[in-house]
Amino acid sequence: MDLVLLGGNVLTMDGLGRSAEAVAVEAGKIRAVGPSAELAKMVGPETRVVHMMGRTLIPGFSDAHNHFNLTVFDPVSVDCRVPPHESIKGIQEAIAAAASDTLRGRWIWGSGFDGSLVRENRNLTRRDLDEAAPNNPVCIVDISVHSCYANSLALSLAGIDKDTPDPHCGQILKGSDGEPTGELWENALNSVHSLCFEGHLDQYGDQAADFVYRNCMRHLACGITSVGDALVMPRASAMYRKADEQGKLPIALRQLLGGQQFFAPPSQASRGEISSEDVSDRLRCGTLKIFMDPVFPSSAQIKCHPDGREEQVGARYYTQEESDQLVLAAHQRGMQVAIHCLGTWSIQQALDSFEKASREHPRQEPRFRIEHFTLPTPSQLERAKSLGVIASVQPIFIYTWADTQQEKARELGRDWGIEAYKSMLDQGLVVAAGSDNPCAPLEPLLGIYAAVTRRCRRTGEPVAPEEAVTPLEALRMYTINSARALLRDGETGSIEVGKRADLALLSHDPTTCNPDFIRDIQVEQTYVDGQLLYQHH
Ligand SMILES: [Zn+2]
Repeated sequence: MDLVLLGGNVLTMDGLGRSAEAVAVEAGKIRAVGPSAELAKMVGPETRVVHMMGRTLIPGFSDAHNHFNLTVFDPVSVDCRVPPHESIKGIQEAIAAAASDTLRGRWIWGSGFDGSLVRENRNLTRRDLDEAAPNNPVCIVDISVHSCYANSLALSLAGIDKDTPDPHCGQILKGSDGEPTGELWENALNSVHSLCFEGHLDQYGDQAADFVYRNCMRHLACGITSVGDALVMPRASAMYRKADEQGKLPIALRQLLGGQQFFAPPSQASRGEISSEDVSDRLRCGTLKIFMDPVFPSSAQIKCHPDGREEQVGARYYTQEESDQLVLAAHQRGMQVAIHCLGTWSIQQALDSFEKASREHPRQEPRFRIEHFTLPTPSQLERAKSLGVIASVQPIFIYTWADTQQEKARELGRDWGIEAYKSMLDQGLVVAAGSDNPCAPLEPLLGIYAAVTRRCRRTGEPVAPEEAVTPLEALRMYTINSARALLRDGETGSIEVGKRADLALLSHDPTTCNPDFIRDIQVEQTYVDGQLLYQHH
């Protein structure tokens, strides 16, 4: 054996929920799972032996929905998160500091800004950014990743001025003087955002692969061994290929392919240009991503009036016919389809499209995905189950914004809980978890804490506590279920003989410790294919 881990608390996540004491690994695969006394006999002169000393071994986490490519350039971007920042003034200083180190004309990228948390309680404007960096185009991505803030130079490079009309499902905010304020929502952020991303790719060239590697290490430090990048544009895809060719992609990455720009329609899907072939063992393809509704001005919801009347409100990116066509075209080509749906109306439309595609072109286990699935009705959960839809959810949102979301649900006349994982599991759905990082923190253990305690950050109080799941259910959501959403459950997601030795060693057992402590559990080691790639010091 190459590796034998002994004396641990092995939570296998297999179908029977078994636990064990030890795991033996050879040639990157799990060869045996069982009692320490038995597996100790497999130790040879060349075997690396790890004494787990009662610590907990789990399958490496799979993050089913994560915007990996948006965080690749974090080491050379301005961290605009609040906290650590407290004010727009502080963020301006950080941007000015970055500008003083950046050649004139080169892009400055920042992310994580949240206008509701800064002292000034407002969003950034082009003037704020002009003051901080007058000679560089600036693009600061909002924490929602559904809006960004641009300075005057960035707006002019993108060709946005007072005469530019709002695109479909997008808004160019304008001031009382008719000029753009610099705030761009949804479909309107595409041009600035793409120019900024491409500017970084051009500037860093081959070095981009090193940034990909660094980002993989950040994921491994959280125990994550595979991710689904929830929106990959063609140039990001090329960046991944390069990193993979150079051996700088140590985790498995499934690309959810979209359009030429972030919210642009994936028209290539129907023309057959989006690949369903995996690039390599590590870098995979075959999923189409569609945005069905925006977060702004409001997602496509069904409002329930007190008299029982139901009304469709909010915006959709696609009509029913358009989404039917996109889904069918990709489905017929053997691709998996993942649809971003926040609102009840968009969920309904996605389910209709899935049903039509299945009827027209029946396929064994198409593994349709609905991303976020924030506010479904009980009957929609039932339909989703019958269509084999995987619920791709982000428990971390309970922590970051469930209180305000629950408030919005009440305004829509809905009296049941949001992020309804217990109801989804009771319905028999496969519930897969992801982080949506950078929209929310990356750490799966923080997400598990949120799924179990339902506590939100602002108040510390539980939101819709009746939808809490057990720690074991939450662990399954982040391992075997998310591996299923990424079509990797045959090879990872549980500790079973024959599977890849993708493993994470934890300081404590999330299933037996105080639930409030789960977020403080330390990831001590992470293995991919039996190789120790992360060690906590
Ligand atoms: Zn996302």
